[in-house]
Amino acid sequence: MKILQLDVNSISYKLIKPEASIYEEAKEKDGRASNALVMLTSIEAGDTARTGEEAVNASAAFAKKQKIDTILIYPFAHLSGSLEEPGKAIEVFKAMREHAEKAFDGKVEYAPFGWNKQLSLDIKGHPLAETSRSYGQGGGVRKEGRQERERKADLSIVRKSDWAGLPETDHRSIGEQLNLYSGQEISPGMTYWHPEGWTIYQELVRFIREKYYDYGYEEISTPALANVALWHVSGHYEHYKDNMFMVDYESGTMGMKPMNCPSTIMVYKTRKRSYKELPFRTAIFDKLYRKEVSGSLGGLFRVQELTQDDGHIFLTDGQLDGEMVSLLQFVKEVYSTFGLKYMPKLSTRDPNNFMGDIGLWDKATEALRHALDKNDMKYELKEGDAAFYGPKIDFDVLDSQGRAWQCATIQLDYQLPLRFKLAYTGEDGKDHTPIMIHRAILGSLERFIGVMVEHYQGKFPTWLAPVQVVVMSIGEGNAKYADEVYDKLRQHRIRAKLDDSGRTIEYKIRDAQMKKVPYMIVLGNREQESKMITVRERSGKQKQGITAEGFIETISREIAERKSELSY
Ligand SMILES: [Zn+2]
Repeated sequence: MKILQLDVNSISYKLIKPEASIYEEAKEKDGRASNALVMLTSIEAGDTARTGEEAVNASAAFAKKQKIDTILIYPFAHLSGSLEEPGKAIEVFKAMREHAEKAFDGKVEYAPFGWNKQLSLDIKGHPLAETSRSYGQGGGVRKEGRQERERKADLSIVRKSDWAGLPETDHRSIGEQLNLYSGQEISPGMTYWHPEGWTIYQELVRFIREKYYDYGYEEISTPALANVALWHVSGHYEHYKDNMFMVDYESGTMGMKPMNCPSTIMVYKTRKRSYKELPFRTAIFDKLYRKEVSGSLGGLFRVQELTQDDGHIFLTDGQLDGEMVSLLQFVKEVYSTFGLKYMPKLSTRDPNNFMGDIGLWDKATEALRHALDKNDMKYELKEGDAAFYGPKIDFDVLDSQGRAWQCATIQLDYQLPLRFKLAYTGEDGKDHTPIMIHRAILGSLERFIGVMVEHYQGKFPTWLAPVQVVVMSIGEGNAKYADEVYDKLRQHRIRAKLDDSGRTIEYKIRDAQMKKVPYMIVLGNREQESKMITVRERSGKQKQGITAEGFIETISREIAERKSELSY
């Protein structure tokens, strides 16, 4: 059991919504107390009523000594990575409350378990006002208990992350309804991609890869693990260590990569580069790992395993201007495909925190400005907001619900090339340091897909739809004709499904509509005799007397051009 104990002048909280499937009913939707001892409490696996009583005794003794009127027991899941399951945790909390009422003279208050709460605290100033405490099977015993649990875990049932009770418009609800992906308790903050969701993912990657071909990128892939020596040079060890998963290997420690830049640099450094090879544009779709507190994870938006449409460009000073213009053109093309509005934000030098030559900074910032103007992009200026290593442009994307999401980022970097002693041979035969650009356009693919699921509310354009067409027969006699049409679609690599089940046509249509499939092909006797097809869009719009070949030609074009509107 982990407790953060706070001696407060006042505390107030408001219940927002239940966050777990098991939660306590609440009579009051808010609570407050003054001159109180707040016990922010995480119940860990293996904790019992006894553990709770021990904790209450210690806090009650402290409260008595400090002349505190009230003890408030406050369930707080964020102090531990190995929480007890909700049902058992509620029992422990109940035992704590009952014991506190006996053991403490003052008032005992209790915030209900399993709720998302808004919390305001005014903590007293004395040195013991904030203390963290740990009770129960600490150290080795605790570890053994954990290993025992791991060994005995029952995986015959999949325990999915709890996505119940979310709004229908949330990407987790839509993802569940359309069977796109799941979160599972055995892999917190990581995504299980089902065939449907993985199809969307692969289509996005394919789209970006085509653009890479057009814009002269070369794709690479690097290991997930590297000796921490790499992370020391890159600075990640110093600044980002707490967010990295570390793995023991022989006599050293390996860090799992939270970013692709350092390992991309190792590819650059494998041989001497000449100015003639620059810009060297690399792209990489590897998985990245970033450790977060388990309580802060949610759906596809906050994850520990992610993939970016990441890329790094190495170039000379003289190439910066032209490269930036074409990079912003790239961004524009990608976002317009999704019909997304966007807002670029230019962050410039912080006069109190920057490294390198001011002249270089000014030139770089000028190049970014010029590229924005050249692409007719209005932007927000964030003066002094750049990181110490270079100016950047971030893009906020606006979804159909009017919310802004930061997706693309283009970051100039003068520091990593120095840290890694990168060089290229210039026209003058001498060594020079290249500039490095970090850029991602969709950003994290996980998050971008989450945003797209909410943006389209599951009604994807045909090129992204997991199933593009369902072919359905009206009567048993039409099954053979349906099969023929279905075959033709498959020959053209259209993602089609055949529904020749014995169910009614109304049922088949409703089923496809629930799955938000863009097109249905309805085939009855009339269609069979005339060798035509009837096309029905998911909106319900229907068109008769179309040839299968004509339909295939139309939607193949719609898919190839990645149109956002349906064709019929
Ligand atoms: Zn990078």
